[in-house]
Amino acid sequence: MLHLLIPKMAEHPAAFTPQNYAVWYEYSTGINPALSQVIAKLLDSGEKLDDYAIERLYLKYVSECNMDVEWALREDIQQLLKRLAKSTEETDAQAHQFDNRLHDYGDTLKQDLDPPKLIALIKGMADDTSKMIDSMRALQSELTASKQNVEKLHEELQAARGESLIDPLTEILNRRGFENSAKLTLSNHEIISKGLCLLMVDIDLFKKINDTYGHLFGDKVIRAVANTLKDKVCGQDSVARLGGEEFALLLAETNVSGARIVAENIRQTIETCQIHRLDSHEKIGGITISIGVAAYETGNNLVDLLGHADKALYVSKKEGRNMTTAYADLIPHAETLADVREQTI
Ligand code: GH3
Ligand code: MG
Ligand code: MG
Repeated sequence: MLHLLIPKMAEHPAAFTPQNYAVWYEYSTGINPALSQVIAKLLDSGEKLDDYAIERLYLKYVSECNMDVEWALREDIQQLLKRLAKSTEETDAQAHQFDNRLHDYGDTLKQDLDPPKLIALIKGMADDTSKMIDSMRALQSELTASKQNVEKLHEELQAARGESLIDPLTEILNRRGFENSAKLTLSNHEIISKGLCLLMVDIDLFKKINDTYGHLFGDKVIRAVANTLKDKVCGQDSVARLGGEEFALLLAETNVSGARIVAENIRQTIETCQIHRLDSHEKIGGITISIGVAAYETGNNLVDLLGHADKALYVSKKEGRNMTTAYADLIPHAETLADVREQTI
């Protein structure tokens, strides 16, 4: 589904946010007729959907309708189960009847039967058996079809909730959502021509935070960091939780010095923030993050950028944590890989 949506979304200026995915998903599947009607009209009149338009559509048609979509899907599942229960019941009644008939045949066989009567009895048994086989087969295929339907409904339900792209703890993109969004950014020549940087962010000594204050407080810290990251980005940027206590940001129209400034701003904000404990008024401070910055170089793909940012992050950790390192810093006197190539030729 996504590979069909992305080219459509790319024709519009709106950023690749979860809301934008939800709007286009519901429009494309037709599961939200009111939304489909409005978007069809807008597209017919040549409108381009920007952030503001998407937000309005999302608030008006998607956020409230998601419940309706869920209920409609649940209703479908209910109907499916009812149909299945009915078929099983019918087959069960037939099996019962079949069992009675077999007993009857047994009783009849105890009597003296002339050959024509015996032939008639055997024919009756054969007919009843093939009827029984037919209904068992019908039930079997009904069960197979139902299984496929349930799987399809389950997928639709997941997609309607946007679960597959969004991390439920922080409500920012998950790794998959980030990959989709980043691939799209990397294929946009206009964006990358203005500079593109990837930041990898990892909470320092997070295991100790969990061990000292508990896992739930750890979750609260993860959410707080995610919220700070969200606040610091704009427009076409993406923020994601890659997993555990690790995040990534893709900054559009930003060169390495701009990315360093953003990274340092984020790092300092986290360093000074205090988070309430869950079971007391005590505020916990001293939480820090380490950051690795990678700047896009011609020909880089997402794996390259993640790899470079990860190497830089590793150096931030090794050098004492609570710091920002750019991949370019790892190569003395070279601000960009292009410079390195030139120096080594
Ligand atoms: P470093 O500064 O080197 O990054 O050390 P660290 O302790 O942050 O790194 P490490 O990889 O050793 O530990 C990460 C911990 O994060 C371990 C794991 O239990 C915890 N963790 C992973 N996912 C979650 C989560 O969703 N919630 C909470 N509370 N903890 C998590
Ligand atoms: Mg860590
Ligand atoms: Mg980590």
